[in-house]
Amino acid sequence: MATLLNDRDLEFQLYEVLDTESLLQRPRYAEHDREIFDATLNTARDIAEQYFAPHNQKGDANEPTFDGKKVTLIPETKPAWDAFAEAGFLASHHDFDDGGSQLPEVVLRASMAYFNAANVSSTAYSFLTIGAANLLKSFGSDELKDRYLPPMLDGRYSGTMALTEPGQGSALGDLRTLAKPAGDGSYRLFGNKMYISGGDHELTENIIHMVLARIEGAPAGVRGISLFLVPKFRLDDHGQPVERNDVALAGLLHKMGYRNTTSTVLNFGEKDGAVGYLVGEPHKGLTYMFQMMNEARIGVGLGAAAMGYQSYLHALDYARERPQGRPVSNKNPDAPQVRIVEHADVRRMLLMQKAYAEGSMALCLYASTLVEDAHTAPDESERKAAAELLDLITPMVKSWPSKYGVAASDLGIQVLGGAGYTRDYVLEQLYRDNRLNPIHEGTEGIQGIDLLGRKLGPKGGDGYAEFQRRIEATLSQAAGLAGCEHLADELAQAQETLKAVTSELQKQLAADPDHGLSNATMYLDMFGKVLVGWMWLKQAMAAEKALGNGALGSEEAFYRGKIHTARYFMNWELAPLDGYARLLIAGNRDNLDMRNDWF
Ligand SMILES: Cc1cc2nc3c(=O)[nH]c(=O)nc-3n(C[C@H](O)[C@H](O)[C@H](O)COP(=O)(O)OP(=O)(O)OC[C@H]3O[C@@H](n4cnc5c(N)ncnc54)[C@H](O)[C@@H]3O)c2cc1C
Repeated sequence: MATLLNDRDLEFQLYEVLDTESLLQRPRYAEHDREIFDATLNTARDIAEQYFAPHNQKGDANEPTFDGKKVTLIPETKPAWDAFAEAGFLASHHDFDDGGSQLPEVVLRASMAYFNAANVSSTAYSFLTIGAANLLKSFGSDELKDRYLPPMLDGRYSGTMALTEPGQGSALGDLRTLAKPAGDGSYRLFGNKMYISGGDHELTENIIHMVLARIEGAPAGVRGISLFLVPKFRLDDHGQPVERNDVALAGLLHKMGYRNTTSTVLNFGEKDGAVGYLVGEPHKGLTYMFQMMNEARIGVGLGAAAMGYQSYLHALDYARERPQGRPVSNKNPDAPQVRIVEHADVRRMLLMQKAYAEGSMALCLYASTLVEDAHTAPDESERKAAAELLDLITPMVKSWPSKYGVAASDLGIQVLGGAGYTRDYVLEQLYRDNRLNPIHEGTEGIQGIDLLGRKLGPKGGDGYAEFQRRIEATLSQAAGLAGCEHLADELAQAQETLKAVTSELQKQLAADPDHGLSNATMYLDMFGKVLVGWMWLKQAMAAEKALGNGALGSEEAFYRGKIHTARYFMNWELAPLDGYARLLIAGNRDNLDMRNDWF
């Protein structure tokens, strides 16, 4: 059985690449030290191993059921939820005063990676609750926060995000759920929501739905959307959940993966309306929800990275054990078979997996440091720069690990050969679970349009300028570091290519938005590769420094593996971008000009 993640790699990424210890200088973390960060990571790994991993395959084989009254999950799900909550992970990044432990974002995210690697579908309940609680904390009234936040932070209540409807998914502006003022400050909601993860279950005393709806008479489109808190059970005067709200579970959806997370169709207002409370101001719901979605997007990227990582570690274990074939140069049929890891083609697949998994993890952890800096960096200009860069790169942080995490899971199956296709190994489940990630929280196509059409637009923005500044700073540091110059040259070339493509696409966008955005997904992929190339250069630089300080034995092997994988990435992932760049710069119209009746 493979470990959940490579602990040494996480330690390397947190402390040698990202300098997480420097956070201890910030007043918010004055009471912390490195031991606390490490103990948190160890606790996460232990709980993930003890309570989450053991029922991962069981939850996949035994989907949740609904008998018309009650949802039943496999019994192991509840102790896992309780262990997560009791260890304080639901509240860990909140203030001490609110019952949290003021854990830095990057340490929380790294901890979450263990849970995702162990069992993504049981982890989803906590993931959604953390996001819903953040949303309430940021935008809810004091009264709403007093009533609902404490039980969401201690695990008595869970949370959901309820955006999607049967008739609208990507086009949020078309949502139809209606909110009518009840005259007492509350609202009554009527409408149907679909695919709502964690929308019903018996894990918690109550479920807090964060629902997007349109107040009666509100303008059409995204400007008319408001955010509501709608509890499954309404609270009495003592704050106890007593009366069932008018939110009915119409049914559970049956999925390819992520099976131990309930996927629900919810009917709001089958009787006299679901009681809901406005969060923040009317018509600002989508802006608020974007906070949750942006956090969730980093979380989706991280989950995909963790599953790609698991796939890599399983495949590596298998390849080191499985004897098959002989080196091409050995024609002696009596010679013993070699382990498949000795075949260059199997090493190709493992190298790709390592590049995708560790590169994705590096990107998500880097994005988490930007979340951190946007909130706690000492200087206002630093906070602003981090927020702008984060805003720019969020589409890639969500979509790149999602696409290449699936690719890493797919490669894992291929490394195992026939065994990978059987249900005796978890690879096929990891692949199915991971396949959700390019779809939810904004599909890959929507991320491309968001990046090029909104984040960059015809003029570019401050986030893009900040990206250039930071990558160039890394390139100049690398230029002075023996062993990294060649890697830096390759990345610099890819960066120039990206710049040329960006400026050309911006012109195409200004001249004709339909044309300009028609290849946005290809551009998203290219930008993602340059970003991950940057992450690989940072890792190679940290590894070179460590080698320079005399790392030996398994440590030396670890660092050499990092540098070699960075080289692989620059050669095989970045160099081919030139071909795509030519097509994009020429304003290729293949997708745009294909006609519906030609298919
Ligand atoms: C397992 C699962 C869990 C989910 N959990 C939740 C949840 O908890 N809460 C919630 O609110 N939602 C949830 N969703 C819904 C999810 O966010 C949507 O499925 C997703 O946003 C896509 O919407 P859709 O399914 O309606 O697809 P559509 O919007 O119909 O898209 C279909 C295809 O068309 C493309 N497309 C659509 N519009 C455009 C466009 N303008 N330009 C270019 N291409 C376009 C898309 O990229 C996609 O490839 C979940 C979905 C699944 C499958």
